[in-house]
Amino acid sequence: MRILKINARTVEISRYADASVPGGGLTTTVVAVVTSAERGGRPVTGYGFSSIGRFAQTGLINERFAPRLLAAVDRDLVAADGTLDPTRAWDVLMKDEKAGGHGERCVAVGTLDMALWDAAAKVADVPLHTLLQRRFARAQTNRVAVYAAGGYDFPTNDIERLCDEIREFLDAGYTMVKIKIGKKALAEDLKRIEAALSIVSGARLAVDAMNRYSPRAALEAAHAIAPYALRWFEDASDPLDFDTHARLCASYEPALGIGEATFSLPDARNLLRYAGMRPARDRLIFDPAHCYGLPEYVRIIETFESAGWNRQAFFPHGGHLFSLHVAAGLGLGGSEANPRIFQPFGGFEDGAVVEDGFASLPSIPGIGFEGRAALKPLLVDLATQ
Ligand code: MG
Repeated sequence: MRILKINARTVEISRYADASVPGGGLTTTVVAVVTSAERGGRPVTGYGFSSIGRFAQTGLINERFAPRLLAAVDRDLVAADGTLDPTRAWDVLMKDEKAGGHGERCVAVGTLDMALWDAAAKVADVPLHTLLQRRFARAQTNRVAVYAAGGYDFPTNDIERLCDEIREFLDAGYTMVKIKIGKKALAEDLKRIEAALSIVSGARLAVDAMNRYSPRAALEAAHAIAPYALRWFEDASDPLDFDTHARLCASYEPALGIGEATFSLPDARNLLRYAGMRPARDRLIFDPAHCYGLPEYVRIIETFESAGWNRQAFFPHGGHLFSLHVAAGLGLGGSEANPRIFQPFGGFEDGAVVEDGFASLPSIPGIGFEGRAALKPLLVDLATQ
């Protein structure tokens, strides 16, 4: 088993479903990892992308990490049964990398790691959630609790369009939604929250400040929104400002959502030590693809469990198929869903059923990116370029 070819391409993804709204220049990297394994007479190809919210990693992938996989020999990539083992391949990716200074190399590694898991599940001829359940000895499930994310500030008619978006989520079977705050003055944020609360209860509404508040503004916002008793308040301030995290945890009674912009086990361990988080209440939003991929994400879960947390507190960021498989395969609390935005990657398989806030799981081998009509032409073109 060898990695024969790795093709990477930068593509744009927009925060808005409406193509007439400028997307803001956000990009991601799509990779095709072609292996020497064969199924049906064709090479098994794994696909991955750099998840959502960080920019493309094509340079790092092409110059630094892909060459290591391409140069790896069979014994460094396979399990005892001779099939591709993504955790062994992860060691190849990280060879001679020094500790610390994570930057965004963690996203580049996570992108390739996603494709390796896709390929491994295809070799096993099972959907990724089934491979993960077997590998990590978790119970089988056929659905995952999900929440619909969106609610970015619209450049025109913001409140009206925000309310329309929330109603569309509810009509589609979601019961919980998350909207953005933190970009405008607090009074404007409160208007958005109250507009959302005219449609859903506080227990079904989360807000995400995308780390935009200063320490002082975060505490002021927390004080102002506490009476709404929201599902959670996510990414209030700088992700590595543990002092502000701790002050929020000490003063804000409802749940906080923490960890989306924490990209490594050492940083996650510091959150545990210094951020004052509350195991029975707060939610952990780490993105598996952003924190060095699944092997490091599993280590983060195990570290939190050893500190008394339940893995039901984990709700992986991303809102796409990979996060859904990870939530199902590792027995986590649930997954974000981006059914309308960040296309062509946001959301789950074409025709996915969401009922009473639970999403059905894909049944085709691998992650199932090819099962999305909007994505398949890009993947075919990438694999054959
Ligand atoms: Mg967030």
